[in-house]
Amino acid sequence: VRIISFTSSAENFTAARLGVWRDEQIADLTATGLPSSLEQLLALDDWRAGAEQAAAGAPLLDPGEVEIGAPLVAPPKILCLGMNFRAHAEEVDAEAPAEPTVFSKLASSITGPTDPIVIPAAAPRRVDYEGELAVVIGGRGRDVPVADAEALIAGYTVANDVSARDWQLKKPAGQWLLGKSFDTFLPLGPELVTADEAPEPEAMTLRCAIGDEILQEASIADLLVGIPEAISYLSAVCTLEPGDLILTGTPEGVGMARVPRRFLGAGDVVETSVGGIGTLRNPVVTADETERAQA
Ligand code: ZN
Repeated sequence: VRIISFTSSAENFTAARLGVWRDEQIADLTATGLPSSLEQLLALDDWRAGAEQAAAGAPLLDPGEVEIGAPLVAPPKILCLGMNFRAHAEEVDAEAPAEPTVFSKLASSITGPTDPIVIPAAAPRRVDYEGELAVVIGGRGRDVPVADAEALIAGYTVANDVSARDWQLKKPAGQWLLGKSFDTFLPLGPELVTADEAPEPEAMTLRCAIGDEILQEASIADLLVGIPEAISYLSAVCTLEPGDLILTGTPEGVGMARVPRRFLGAGDVVETSVGGIGTLRNPVVTADETERAQA
């Protein structure tokens, strides 16, 4: 199934609800008594069968009457893999690491699949895109063997790991957290595609484009650390829980490594897609414009 988080001004649903696509309409899962957030849904036993059953009898909404938000807004953990495509490591003069590079982003950076990316006043000049496939965890596991890791995958969605390169790379001790955690720096969605409906990695092509300029294009099959291996590695450290989000890394073509450099600016529309999973379409605005719009 393909699960969305939505509000509806037409129906006066101002708080987010869960829905699934059914016959090109949205079945309102929350109206059937299921939770209103994906984090809560994934914590239920046999959530997928429950969602499928509920969808069959749920009230239907016209897609034109709903606004789709990020599928997760408060994941227990966000774990991100860096340098996970060989050509990307090379373009930023890093060696492809023998073990995964892992960092986090704050959950407050999550924004919806068509929401604006806001260039922060504190970091206006080097805001960069990183198209990525995101994995959503659907169970609990610690010390998970690679062979058992796929059972923990609820499904997949699309992410843009937006990064202010000056803050990411030039702050004391080389920590990346703040440079990757400005508000709106994690566009996510538009759907959770459950693992049973997702294509094989070979069929998942990741693309990131601004307008008709394709800036990144790579196959998910080329990840250096594969998804089961990453789950196994991370679960040696912490218990993975329902709703945890894993960003699997970006391929070559990021703005800071291009000649000339290509950073994000007001007026750009960034389109990030993974074949079979979905597409994000985020306009870029400056903090000034956001203040004016809110005034
Ligand atoms: Zn990244």
